[in-house]
Amino acid sequence: MAEKKAFVAGHPIAHSRSPKIHGHWLAKYGIEGSYRAIDVAPAEFAAFLASLGENGFRGGNVTIPHKEAAFAGVARRDHAADEIGAVNTLWFEDGVLWGGNTDGYGFAANLDDHAPGWAANGPAVVLGAGGASRAVIHALKERGIKDIRVVNRTLARAQELARHFGAAITAHGAGAVGELLADAGLLINTTSLGMHGDATLSADPAGLPDHAIVTDLVYVPLETPLLAAARTRGLKTVDGLGMLLHQAVPGFERWFGRKPEVTPELRRLIVADIEGQ
Ligand code: NAP
Repeated sequence: MAEKKAFVAGHPIAHSRSPKIHGHWLAKYGIEGSYRAIDVAPAEFAAFLASLGENGFRGGNVTIPHKEAAFAGVARRDHAADEIGAVNTLWFEDGVLWGGNTDGYGFAANLDDHAPGWAANGPAVVLGAGGASRAVIHALKERGIKDIRVVNRTLARAQELARHFGAAITAHGAGAVGELLADAGLLINTTSLGMHGDATLSADPAGLPDHAIVTDLVYVPLETPLLAAARTRGLKTVDGLGMLLHQAVPGFERWFGRKPEVTPELRRLIVADIEGQ
């Protein structure tokens, strides 16, 4: 049988850890397949999408800056992609190109893994109103959280998300954080702050109740200033690396026919990559 081929397309793409994740699983399960990074400039993305089938790809991932173009360019979309407004996973079904979004799945699966029962911990405070925030809100809604408070530097973007996602979501400016945390059970950072450990967040976990769980989508460094402050406060913390690992699972299963496992071994491989950079 021909080699099963998949890819991740972005611009730039050299930083992507997805080839390491999928490469690990291909080797572990002895699957004759490949997964490679392809740099696709925005002007070339439509042609790239149109040529996937003839180039023998079963599908792939798309990342910055192509998630919205992929959303517009596929023939069919799953429910998560429609709600989030972006596509990160492509696959063919009966010759038709589908687009899905697995970021919300990855977010929830990471918490399931490291903080089982987390979804009973509403209300949730979500810092940030960008693309990652949309995936998180989708997941929180799917898991039945009824009070989701979105806080953003630019209030208008939070308000847009509240309109889009409906009654469970309220929008707030940065000044409201302290008050919002007082009875929250979940605090989620989706802003790019803390990316290199060189910035602090205005949300202070000291103001959270004792049972609260704190998670950060930023995973470089693995322990962000927010997570460090939450740990010092004695709260349960979950880092963002597991989200990256889990979001890769549905794509691998579609392209290569086996549901892969997120194991400590895989995590160690990617942690070594982060620490070696
Ligand atoms: P995005 O669409 O560009 O949104 C960025 C968000 O950060 C916005 O809410 C923005 O606020 C806020 N922000 C940026 N700089 C700020 C500052 N100096 N002060 C206050 N707020 C600031 O980015 P994204 O795609 O949502 O990604 C956000 C982060 O999540 C990135 O670090 C990304 O790597 C990470 N992420 C991780 C995973 C994972 O698997 N763990 C998955 C997806 C994303 P404004 O609206 O006011 O500009």
